[in-house]
Amino acid sequence: MYQAQFDRFEKKVWLSSPTMHGEELEYIKEAFETNWMSTMGKNIDEIERMACEKVGCNYAVALSAGTAALHMAMKLAGIKPGQQVFCSDVTFDATVNPVVYEGGVPIFIDTEYDTWNMDPVALEKAFELYPDVKVVVVAHLYGTPGKIDEIREICKKHGASIVEDAAESFGASYKGQQTGAFGDFNVISFNGNKIITGSAGGMFLTNSKEDFEKVKKWSTQARENAPWYQHEELGYNYRMSNVVAGVIRGQMPHLEEHIAQKKAIYERYKEGLKDLPITMNPYNEKDSEPNFWLSCLLIKPEAMCKQVRSECEALFIPEHGKSCPTEILEAISSINAEGRPIWKPMHMQPIYRMNGFVTREGNGRAKTNAYISGGSVGKDGKPLDVGMDIFHRGLCLPSDNKMTPEQQDRIIEVIKACFD
Ligand SMILES: *Cc1c(COP(=O)(O)O)cnc(C)c1O
Repeated sequence: MYQAQFDRFEKKVWLSSPTMHGEELEYIKEAFETNWMSTMGKNIDEIERMACEKVGCNYAVALSAGTAALHMAMKLAGIKPGQQVFCSDVTFDATVNPVVYEGGVPIFIDTEYDTWNMDPVALEKAFELYPDVKVVVVAHLYGTPGKIDEIREICKKHGASIVEDAAESFGASYKGQQTGAFGDFNVISFNGNKIITGSAGGMFLTNSKEDFEKVKKWSTQARENAPWYQHEELGYNYRMSNVVAGVIRGQMPHLEEHIAQKKAIYERYKEGLKDLPITMNPYNEKDSEPNFWLSCLLIKPEAMCKQVRSECEALFIPEHGKSCPTEILEAISSINAEGRPIWKPMHMQPIYRMNGFVTREGNGRAKTNAYISGGSVGKDGKPLDVGMDIFHRGLCLPSDNKMTPEQQDRIIEVIKACFD
């Protein structure tokens, strides 16, 4: 139960804000001085080369956003109106919306507890229920690689292609290979709060020259090779600005440094919170090296005080020795630091409430619809599925690279006070 008074930080400690180094400005200046103030130029060429080198792929197309890159990936995957597509459930809605841009119908696959990503067991179950599905969209939550081998094997068995949303996991690896290199169509993001940022931006990654050329064309209004503006296909204006690319070019050399800082933050939370009834967002230590984009915690079921979340509000009943994400988020906020709830599962979002949802046991919708909408737990007080359970008991902690150990210690003390 949080009561203690802690001093507020004078300057806000953010969840994850841009960490600039100075080189960014040099490359912006270069764009200005050479007048490449456009969607072409050396900064773009360089970051495409650097991303290929880092991830280990042949081609990259710099785009205006990760969402734009995902849209291009959905088009390449051949999603047609009315076609059902399996998608990660606990993720940012940018993973899923591009499916709908193409008229596809997302079917959500429940989450597993080992990495908080798509559950291969639920995915296998989903192919039993929807044998015709041909595309699977997989995200790596908070920079932690999912169960890639299992998911790839299941997709191969069912002849489905993978759209890999590595927007949050740039620099993370699984069995020595970088995320962004596992799917048939791969995407990273340079949004303002990602581990490397251009203030905005995204990238499509591939080994296929043909796909590379298609994305280049589609994202530049689909111009044909002709003396005038000739159009045979629907086009988009999705290219990245060379100014934005300058920021990313200056950031890129600092990726490993950012990961090391994020990892140190994760380890510090883990150590500082080890006596509390919580666990950190888990990863497979044998096979994967996350980029530790966000540190999260999960409260043990027996240490949860009562918490109810309606569609847009949250309430909890404070209790000695127990806490809940709502209380901890309020406590963190009271000292001028920023935490965040876990992504609310897509199958619980009003916009996707009619879409299919598959758990290990099968049709998760039957269960979800059986209780009053908006609550976090079923009538028996137990969570309805893994995704809702993690949403109910988990939260993202302030994970900014620039947070000092002293600031982090104060945040840790505040979290401890919630369990007093
Ligand atoms: C940030 C993010 C995106 C979208 O990237 P933008 O560059 O913001 O469009 C997609 N998926 C996930 C999981 C993300 O976190």
